[in-house]
Amino acid sequence: MPLWFPQGSPNLPPPKPPPYTPRMTTAVDQVAEVEREAREALEGAADEAALEAWRTRVLGRSGTLTGILRGLGGLPAEERREVGQAANLAKQALEAALEARQDALRAAAREAATRDAIDVTLPGRPVRRGRLHPVTRTLQEITRIFERMGFQAVEGPEVELDEYNFERLRIPEHHPARDMWDTFWVDEEVDGRQPLLLRTHTSPMQIRFMEQHEPPIRIVVPGRCYRYEATDATHEWMLQQVELLAVDEGLSMADLKGTLQEFARQMFGPQRRVMMRNSYFPFVEPGVELAVDCYACPGNDPTCSVCRGAGWVEIMGAGMVHPEILEAAGYDSDRYTGFAAGMGVERIAMPRYGVEDIRLFYQNDLRFLRQF
Ligand SMILES: [Zn+2]
Repeated sequence: MPLWFPQGSPNLPPPKPPPYTPRMTTAVDQVAEVEREAREALEGAADEAALEAWRTRVLGRSGTLTGILRGLGGLPAEERREVGQAANLAKQALEAALEARQDALRAAAREAATRDAIDVTLPGRPVRRGRLHPVTRTLQEITRIFERMGFQAVEGPEVELDEYNFERLRIPEHHPARDMWDTFWVDEEVDGRQPLLLRTHTSPMQIRFMEQHEPPIRIVVPGRCYRYEATDATHEWMLQQVELLAVDEGLSMADLKGTLQEFARQMFGPQRRVMMRNSYFPFVEPGVELAVDCYACPGNDPTCSVCRGAGWVEIMGAGMVHPEILEAAGYDSDRYTGFAAGMGVERIAMPRYGVEDIRLFYQNDLRFLRQF
């Protein structure tokens, strides 16, 4: 007959379980049970104090295992031998387990201690020293040179009244010079006075200072100025300017030239010569442009990035303070004369640091700024 079903198919009755025979708990079982419980407790012991408590409870003078060994005397001779052997083996095993647990806990403690510790052998991280922006440095240098010559540094408001920025510097509304100085206007008033604008030069401080002081005056005025300007490589809508003003009895063009020549020598080198060319600014008469001979080439190198072969670099406008401005300040223009000058700090910083685009100064690109 072919065998359609494998052997042990569901049709066959299940095999019978072996008959249940209750097992007697013997003294040897008791030793095994004590050891099992002790090992479990040992795993839960988390520090030296817990280990000591465990040792006392299991292996100590009145410990559980010690109790079994003590009770051996009351057992029948053959059982005593068997139980004694088991108990001694359990004792050795538990002592070894205690030692292993102790080592493990100490190693973990050491590791935890070193993990949070300061490694004094680790080399320090370098601290990068910051430095001043090249325009700020140039501004400070210019200001300090004039301070050494006896000029006092003063600052004025960046948001200025039209009156100070233009009117009282002899630039009335509709004056063509205003075209050069288009700026941002502010739609508010100060002490009921307006219009307000972002100053186009630091020259308003000439008027503000003369209002408050009597001659002799020697001031240098550093600060930010603003222009409503389409930006390109040589024009920014914000620039730094340094203004100079001296008013005293008997000041002449010679004092102006001597002061600026000394400035040029301190700023660009002791060999520098200066040249004054006639120019026009509404608040001076006469007005000049001051140029310094090129400090980067012999003066005739067409590839020179500073003078482009011209040999001269214009660095500022200057002139004798217009008598009308002195009169408006309440000074007697027959007795007092004065000179003034103004220079763009970026225009001086650019050739010195070899920067060809003024816009780079204010883009805050650290790759650019870290070069200086
Ligand atoms: Zn040159």
